[in-house]
Amino acid sequence: MKSAQVGWTEALNNVIGFHVDQDPAPILLLQPTLEMAEAWSKDRLAPMIRDTPCLNGRIADPKARDSGNTLLHKRFTGGHLTIVGANSPAGLASRPVRVLLCDEVDRFPVSAGTEGDPIDLARRRTATFRNRKVLMGSTPTVKGASRIEAAFEQSDQRFYFVPCPHCEEFQRLVWAQVKWEEGQPETAAYVCQHCGAVLTDADKPEMLRRGEWRPSKPFNGVAGFHISELYSPWTSWPEMATAFIRAKKFPETLQTWINTALGETWEEKGETVEPEGLLARKEGYGPDELPPGVLLLTVGGDVQDDRIECQLLGWGTNEECWILEQKIFLGNPGNARFWNEEIDPYLKQRYRTEDGRSLAIEAAAFDSGGHCTQAVYDYCVARRRFRIWAIKGQAGPGRLAWPKRASRVASSRVPLHIIGVDTIKSTLYGRLEKVPKPGAGYIHLPESFDAEACKQLTSETRVRVYVKGRAVIVWKPRVANIRQEAQDCWIYGYAAMIGRGGGKLLATRAGRRPEPRVETVPEEPEVEAAPPPETAPVPVKRNFVAPRRNGFVRGWK
Ligand SMILES: [Zn+2]
Repeated sequence: MKSAQVGWTEALNNVIGFHVDQDPAPILLLQPTLEMAEAWSKDRLAPMIRDTPCLNGRIADPKARDSGNTLLHKRFTGGHLTIVGANSPAGLASRPVRVLLCDEVDRFPVSAGTEGDPIDLARRRTATFRNRKVLMGSTPTVKGASRIEAAFEQSDQRFYFVPCPHCEEFQRLVWAQVKWEEGQPETAAYVCQHCGAVLTDADKPEMLRRGEWRPSKPFNGVAGFHISELYSPWTSWPEMATAFIRAKKFPETLQTWINTALGETWEEKGETVEPEGLLARKEGYGPDELPPGVLLLTVGGDVQDDRIECQLLGWGTNEECWILEQKIFLGNPGNARFWNEEIDPYLKQRYRTEDGRSLAIEAAAFDSGGHCTQAVYDYCVARRRFRIWAIKGQAGPGRLAWPKRASRVASSRVPLHIIGVDTIKSTLYGRLEKVPKPGAGYIHLPESFDAEACKQLTSETRVRVYVKGRAVIVWKPRVANIRQEAQDCWIYGYAAMIGRGGGKLLATRAGRRPEPRVETVPEEPEVEAAPPPETAPVPVKRNFVAPRRNGFVRGWK
């Protein structure tokens, strides 16, 4: 994890040069994009090979006839170097590699095409080498969303300690110790944390030479290093102070400065809801006796590797919402029996309201985007006429909460509903924050909701990120590795409610005229239709939409 101007690219070059000359191995270098891979090959690798005698004898010039070498693929005795863009799934799924180098990982896409995390994909290439080596490096970006920070936090977290030339105490250089006269950044100097001596850039070379890496966590197999521009032999402290004063005027330039000069993540106080406050809204109801306002039940299902979590949601007029329970089914969701024996009975259950009505679950949405995708498809496609839907979340602004029509999973008849998760997150957080009293849009919490569930329900925060100087709103987990099942289940259960008919259906049920909607949720794709007469033949449509019956349970038992 590093700033700019600290020689990282040279470090990477040295690793490659060493392996070409001393320890030949198949090497894969990942750059964020194909264009950057090509630029790196031309501007960084080619000069090193050209100017280093022991390398240029081993790697033939791509221009030479029969060299077998291209811009992105270099052969040498005993190995090869393949350079790929992290956005290119084809390049990641090629041959085995022993040395995997990942450059600027914070600029990697979340997924290589549709294949998943590029680093995971590339890591699989190294599986057959006992002596594999994986190297990642990057300037960090936003806290909670930075790959390099997450990786660094799992390492032994080494910092470079340098001695003060006056008191000999070793210390890590930190920005807070750089001081200057008000308005005169050119006077900036480093103040020793121990003796207060004022150190200038003239002291730096000697300090760097005598410095050493010190871990701050026990070693667990991953060595992590952090270095900032404060150590750079090519940048002076007054230059950094000048750049800081220029950058701090605007949040976007300050973010860039903190990322590239200090090599630290940027933390913006985003729009968020504090989970502690939510505990106060717990009420004494549960799934055994539903509050009288509940008109419709939906389920949002989050599929993990070892369990399925289902959130049962009750909906009333104007989308007033009662979270009824968060139920965890432990087992292997890849196994159809688990679904049949655990999820089926749960979805078939009926619930009684306080005022004596009996309600069934009318729609359920299960996430197929993460784990056990095929099993989710299989389960949902067989039950789609009961409105059990396979869904997949798609981030990004302006997406419909529920799609106008389902997509088809390639080469199959599985209808897949792509839901706009960011749109629904805005709804969830907006309602938690801005709707403090029961009524339209209020979210009620059941007796069973504990602090952990509240934390999960509010596990993200809305932050402004600057991509090439342009502000983009994104949702981020508030801390790394926070569990999010309650939030995700609510999102899916909300999508199921919209898919079932949304506010219009709820208004019809409440015997009232629909009221104008305030949030930007899509038009309801389905309007409750009168049931066909029992005797009428049900037309079978070619696009495989099952005949719709009024109510969920009919035909289910
Ligand atoms: Zn000192």
